[in-house]
Amino acid sequence: MKIACDCSYCLEYTFIWEINSMVWIEIPKNGSHNLKHFRFKNKLNLINSNQINNYKRGFLILRDPIERFRSLLSFYFINNVVPIITDKIYPNINPPRYLGGSWLYNLKTNHKNICDIVLDNFKFISKIEDAHHFSSQKSFIPNEFYNLNFTVYNLKEMNLFFGMEKKVNTTNTSSIYISKSNEQKIKDLYSDDVELYEKYLI
Ligand SMILES: [Zn+2]
Repeated sequence: MKIACDCSYCLEYTFIWEINSMVWIEIPKNGSHNLKHFRFKNKLNLINSNQINNYKRGFLILRDPIERFRSLLSFYFINNVVPIITDKIYPNINPPRYLGGSWLYNLKTNHKNICDIVLDNFKFISKIEDAHHFSSQKSFIPNEFYNLNFTVYNLKEMNLFFGMEKKVNTTNTSSIYISKSNEQKIKDLYSDDVELYEKYLI
């Protein structure tokens, strides 16, 4: 499931990297920020899908689809880390980095209701800034990658494999409430990720 996004990152980057003669697929919200800025700093070369065949090995990190969605809710709509832009007019509100748009602007969001609100308005999700974060994990993986001899790591075990215990994002998102029916909606939206996660990590 791919969300249309025309942000500068999507226009300039492929989400495919070479590191130590291996191919790494950058999947947003799966520890990528920490890997790029700490563990793999200055060792990455951007490549494109046509170049994947030049390599033998690859790896990527997958995350439980429900936990990834919970993290997205926290990142975008609770912690307001990035601006939320749904209109071309940016309302002048506080805090200044939070730019609410038409469907979120007047709503009081909290850990209890945010999942309902976002799922009820999911058709607008492509209007937020850097909407590609909401694309499924699978949508970032080019078909060519599956030809490699590759390893799939679970985000839960990333510290173990990448030795980043101090630097991994430790934001506590567990208080964001996701009801059973919303869990099912997320699984339906991200059915490609449910399948992928079950195939490689369960
Ligand atoms: Zn984008």
